[in-house]
Amino acid sequence: MEKEGEGVVDISNDVESFSKQLLILIKKNKNWRHFCYKFLIECSLKVLNVFKLEVAHSINNYSKNASDFISDLINQRLRLKTKPTRSQFMRIYFDNKGIEMVNISRLLHKVNDAIPDSFKIQDPPTVLFLRSPTIGSKIFNYKDVVEDLETLEWNDDEHKCDCSNSEFCDPSHGHIVTGNLNIITNDKLRSLLTKGPTYREANKIDWKKVFHCIKRGVCEVQQKWCTKEKVAAAVLDEWSSRLLHEVKLQIRAIKKRPSFRFHSKSEKILDDNDVKSYLSELHEKFVITPTDKAGNNFSVVCKKFYIQCLLKELCLSKDSKKKKSTYKNLKIKQSIVVKRHVQYMSKHNIKIEDDQKRLPFLYWIPKMHKTPSKKSI
Ligand SMILES: [Zn+2]
Repeated sequence: MEKEGEGVVDISNDVESFSKQLLILIKKNKNWRHFCYKFLIECSLKVLNVFKLEVAHSINNYSKNASDFISDLINQRLRLKTKPTRSQFMRIYFDNKGIEMVNISRLLHKVNDAIPDSFKIQDPPTVLFLRSPTIGSKIFNYKDVVEDLETLEWNDDEHKCDCSNSEFCDPSHGHIVTGNLNIITNDKLRSLLTKGPTYREANKIDWKKVFHCIKRGVCEVQQKWCTKEKVAAAVLDEWSSRLLHEVKLQIRAIKKRPSFRFHSKSEKILDDNDVKSYLSELHEKFVITPTDKAGNNFSVVCKKFYIQCLLKELCLSKDSKKKKSTYKNLKIKQSIVVKRHVQYMSKHNIKIEDDQKRLPFLYWIPKMHKTPSKKSI
């Protein structure tokens, strides 16, 4: 066991020998920064404090530069130690614009006095809106096409397309591969697609949903916050019920505003029955993908051609079977391959996140900036 007295001696010795060596290096103007950085970042806080009290100020007599460098390092370490605990995030799904109109951040400040004094975190949670899906998530179907594809059962002859009769046929491929949205004959859908895949269609304002989404966010943060403070969730019951009461009052007030009627009118194009059935027909015949180097555009590709290209890449199509393939056909389940990867990585102390526990999927997107259009796998 270490005696207290010896610890103090060790610290003084450490500081003294470091200081001597440091002064020599400073005088020679030789590599002192690295030497200093390594010691001050790695030493214990006790050593750091002794150095700060006994030595740091005297460095100024030798070099102003070194003195500034050292005090920055010390402050940086001490600041990190006393870093205030960050407030929690309140995640609210942005279902419709009503969410924004409630102005939850303002209401949070109103109930600040309901945060128990014993809590380390005294700031109200920071509000984060989780955005609703983009139109791209409903329009793109290249992932579905790949996932549904049974490579060994695919037979070219069973699948017909009438690309050759279309004005959008790419002459070099003999199939439709186009970024020209005029191929979409449904006017509503075409005008929506011109807004790009990252566009979001606004939902109609629905106050029940507004309240529900906010309530879910409040309950979630109540749980997380109390766990962090190591108390039962009920400790924040007063805070959450007062907050939700404020939300209700706010919603009631907004509904009375004359401008509210204007906001409530908005029908989504993708909910329109004609558009829906047109889109599902389109998805039958074509693969809709992003465009290489122009991620904000849609490309429309003949489904038969799209699949043929994938099979060619995998050397599974008729005319490519004899070629040497980059890929190997495995007759084992995906879960087993993933398990092997996880085991291999854990041997090297690398943890794989849950969302990475899957195999990459193969797809290609057209390069519309090349003439003729090429593919990027
Ligand atoms: Zn075709």
